[in-house]
Amino acid sequence: MYPDRVVSGMRPTGVMHLGHFHGALKNWVKLQSEHECLFFVADWHALTTHYDDPSIIEKSTWDMVIDWLAAGIDPAQSTLFIQSKVPEHAELHLLLSMTTPLGWLERVPTYKDQQEKLADRDLATYGFLGYPLLQAADVLIYRASMVPVGEDQVPHIEMMRELARRFNHIYGKEKDFEEKAKEAVKKLGGKRARLYAELRTEFQEKGSADAIEQARAMLDEAQNLSMIDRERLFGYLEGSRKLILVEPRALLTEASRLPGLDGQKMSKSYGNSIGLREDRESVTKKMRTMPTDPARVRRTDPGEPERCPVWQLHKVYSDEPTRQWASTGCRSAGIGCLECKQPVIDAVLKEQEPMRERAQQYLDDPTLVRAIIADGCEKARRMAQETMRDVREVMGLSYN
Ligand code: SF4
Repeated sequence: MYPDRVVSGMRPTGVMHLGHFHGALKNWVKLQSEHECLFFVADWHALTTHYDDPSIIEKSTWDMVIDWLAAGIDPAQSTLFIQSKVPEHAELHLLLSMTTPLGWLERVPTYKDQQEKLADRDLATYGFLGYPLLQAADVLIYRASMVPVGEDQVPHIEMMRELARRFNHIYGKEKDFEEKAKEAVKKLGGKRARLYAELRTEFQEKGSADAIEQARAMLDEAQNLSMIDRERLFGYLEGSRKLILVEPRALLTEASRLPGLDGQKMSKSYGNSIGLREDRESVTKKMRTMPTDPARVRRTDPGEPERCPVWQLHKVYSDEPTRQWASTGCRSAGIGCLECKQPVIDAVLKEQEPMRERAQQYLDDPTLVRAIIADGCEKARRMAQETMRDVREVMGLSYN
């Protein structure tokens, strides 16, 4: 089996705000200590919607990497790279497009949805339609086992799985597969070979999930197998095909949404965001002037926290006693709105402090960021090339 690997990317289409931190980056920081992680700047994806105004992409790319580092992404633990610096993504995208039924792409729920949401852009393009296919290539090329996503992205992962399955079905049928698989079984050694055969029969005849799990675990431990024999034996367990691409699964992330200053979703285009590394004065000013429950015209008017965007932030940033103090004080007009905002302002500034500090070294010396990305691109490219060697071979494109 291939190692557990997580792949995720972000489009460089503007500055990052605290909504990105709570919605994704915090989770990436956690994941990097649990799995092998690859995080990439999805600059080609940015072009699918910003093809007519690419100026934002280059600047956002470097700012975005600094934001990731500031948020706690550690280049010693994670591989950070830029999508377009690993051209194998585009090659796999092209090759997958040969076998992808058009209907699969047209059916992706976010396709129509996004077209409607971004009605000011002309998105009747081939690139935009192929967006989920490029996403699939981004993941399949690293044989990633997990992709962190929110509920709305699950259909994309489902499609990636279908694409991998279809690819393996069409191209995994090696000449003499059966013979090669049997040879590989022998290499397991007498006792293990017998166990493998028993578990394979049990799975194929009774569909026993335990049997396949046990067989996979045994293959994982078998040190004397080459990678290709191991993959043959994984494929042979389930049928008569080699696994070339790995089906990833969705790693559902609990959506911790940070609302914007007006209570809507935080977004730069709504003008309601707080930048990840925005300076203290600006954050304080924005929060002190953010809207509250309109019923509190005067200090003596009681309010209702559920109608107030500040309360939404208390839910994210404050502990129970502080929330109790705020809600009681609001409903009884015992506290003023500025007073109520202060603990949230303090919490936001405290959260940003280490991010600003970490970012400073990269702002002072931009060559550090370039070096991190150069290393990451090289590492990612080596992994991508490994997969592409197998893909080219089975598609009749290896002219060695
Ligand atoms: S007291 Fe707090 S919760 Fe109530 S309206 Fe003012 S800011 Fe909002």
